[in-house]
Amino acid sequence: MTALLEASGLTKSFADFTAIAGVDLVLPAGGITAVIGPNGAGKTTLINLLTGKLLPDQGRITFAGSDVTRFPASARVRAGMARTFQVTNVFPLLTVEENVAVPVLARAGRSLDPLRRIDSMQDVRATAQRLLAAVGLGGRSADVAAALSHGDRRLLELALALACEPRLLLLDEPTAGIASGERDRVLEQIRSLAAPQPLTIALVEHDMEVVFGLASRVVVLHQGKVLADGTPQQIRDDRRVREIYLGDPSVAPPLARAAPSPGPPLLRGSTSPGVEAGSASRAGPSPASRPNASQRWA
Ligand code: ADP
Ligand code: MG
Repeated sequence: MTALLEASGLTKSFADFTAIAGVDLVLPAGGITAVIGPNGAGKTTLINLLTGKLLPDQGRITFAGSDVTRFPASARVRAGMARTFQVTNVFPLLTVEENVAVPVLARAGRSLDPLRRIDSMQDVRATAQRLLAAVGLGGRSADVAAALSHGDRRLLELALALACEPRLLLLDEPTAGIASGERDRVLEQIRSLAAPQPLTIALVEHDMEVVFGLASRVVVLHQGKVLADGTPQQIRDDRRVREIYLGDPSVAPPLARAAPSPGPPLLRGSTSPGVEAGSASRAGPSPASRPNASQRWA
């Protein structure tokens, strides 16, 4: 299996606090990988390192065969990475179509000209319509973004990211703050993006059952390290994941099943199927340690 992205030995500290402590991660092309972990585990920092918002103190990142470790974020976007943020990030006063037109034009080296309505830019509009249709917002083009529901704004963000024509899409909590009634629609759109086209998706999500239903692979981050990496079933059945999140029914629902037969390790250096060895302590305070049942994930 060819790796689309490969990170090795990634480390990032903020002053004397090590947020990411030697993470190895391989993302093969295709499929949806979920990164889960308690608040402060390092999930957003990991996405920031992969996308170039932050540079690592140590480690290496290769993407599509190139060493992108020191690439700025803009160069990684050009190389085929796009992301969405934990906090919604759209232009509220522009229409839905104009929002998407901004990155479509930027990709062509142009910018949105306030004196020139996009009605006259048929090529841009056609691309914007295709992207909006891909995220289920085809009927909302003329609406001002501020009028969208939170779930629809999340979908618009997806369209903005897709405008970069990525090979890898990294989503930081794509359902954060969305009412439960809207959540399934957003998840269905994410699933549909990964299905027909060769798009690789890595997302951070806090709802365990959502992750188990959506992702083909789950990576558990804990105190800046990869604690476990495997299929949803392997993660459900992983003794150490269950020990650490004992008492949180959304993470470790009561299981009477036997462990599944071992598959190939997804993580370099794994010592047991789908699970990385060691959960050594990291420098600095440890806000993520031993979350209880009421602690929110992600
Ligand atoms: P998660 O997304 O898993 O909740 P983060 O990656 O946001 O966790 O944060 C991991 C840890 O690193 C947290 O303890 C957080 O407070 C700390 N951290 C993140 N970004 C910074 C920063 N810019 N400066 C200082 N500490 C940070
Ligand atoms: Mg986060």
